Amino acid sequence: MNRTRILPCFPPLQQTGRGREFNQYSLDDHKEVVYHYLFHGLSHRALDKDILGLDPAYSRGFQSMNILHFLGLVDVHKHFFEGFPLEDALAILKPYTAEEAYLLIYSYLLDKAQMYREDQQPDYGVAELDARYWINQFLKDVDDRQQIESRLSFVPASSQEFRYGSSKYYVSSTSLKEVLKCRYDFYCQICHTRIYRPKWVRTLPIKEQWKHLNADVHHIQPLSKGGIDLMENMLCLCPNCHRRFHTEEHILERRQGHLFVFNQISGKHSPLTIKHSLIL
Ligand SMILES: [Zn+2]
Ligand SMILES: [Zn+2]
Repeated sequence: MNRTRILPCFPPLQQTGRGREFNQYSLDDHKEVVYHYLFHGLSHRALDKDILGLDPAYSRGFQSMNILHFLGLVDVHKHFFEGFPLEDALAILKPYTAEEAYLLIYSYLLDKAQMYREDQQPDYGVAELDARYWINQFLKDVDDRQQIESRLSFVPASSQEFRYGSSKYYVSSTSLKEVLKCRYDFYCQICHTRIYRPKWVRTLPIKEQWKHLNADVHHIQPLSKGGIDLMENMLCLCPNCHRRFHTEEHILERRQGHLFVFNQISGKHSPLTIKHSLIL
C-alpha cells in the first residue's frame, strides 16, 4: 500500500520587537538559539545560559526571548520540531519561505544541516539574509527614500552601538556591511554602477529593489593589517573597482582635503561619492 506522509503545518510567526537584542548577537547565536528552541524546547533561561553563555540570574532569559520574538517564534513553536529529522523540518518550512522571516529560519536550519538553498547565489548566504532581515524590520514603518535615508543615517559610522529614539542598537559586522550598501543604494562609490539580480525592476519600492541588487564592501585598511571593522573603514564598491584595490591598480589619495581614487595604470584621479564619514 502506498502511503503519503502528512507533515504538520508550521504555526504562524508572531513578530515583535525592534531587534536590539537580535542585532547584538552573531549569526551563529541566532542559528543555535532558533535550533535549540525548535528542536529541544530549551527555555529562554536555558538558551541564555547554554547558548549565549550568559548568567541566567542576570539575563533572566530576556536575550534569547527577544531574539526569538523578533523572528516571531513564540510558545507554540517551542520544541515544535522535537523528534523530527532536520529534513522534515525543512520540508515543513519550505512552503512558507516566500516570507522573509520563514526564509531566514529555514536558512538557519539549512545551514545547520550544512545544505544550501537551491536558489541561493554563492555571494548571498545566510549572513546577508540575517542582516537584511534586521534592516528591513528596522525600516519597517518608513517608506519613502528620504525617510529611509534618514533612518539609515542613524547608524553611525563611528560605532557599532547607536541610539534611535529611546532604544540602543548594536550593529554586527554583516549588518554594518549591509547598512552601508543600502546607504549607497548599492551604487559603486567610484564608478556608480551596480550589479542586478534577476527580478529587479525600476518601479519596485526601494526596499524591494535592494533584494535584487548586489555590491561589495571593501575595508580600506585591511582587517589583517589592523584595520577596524567599522563603516568608517569601509567602501561600497562594484566587484570591478573592488578588485582594482586588491591588485593596487586603484589607490586612495587625499588632495586638497578631498578624497580621490588614483588609477596607477591610467594615471587618472576620480572622485568618490561619499555619504558616510571615513577614517584614513
Ligand atoms: Zn565600480
Ligand atoms: Zn576588499
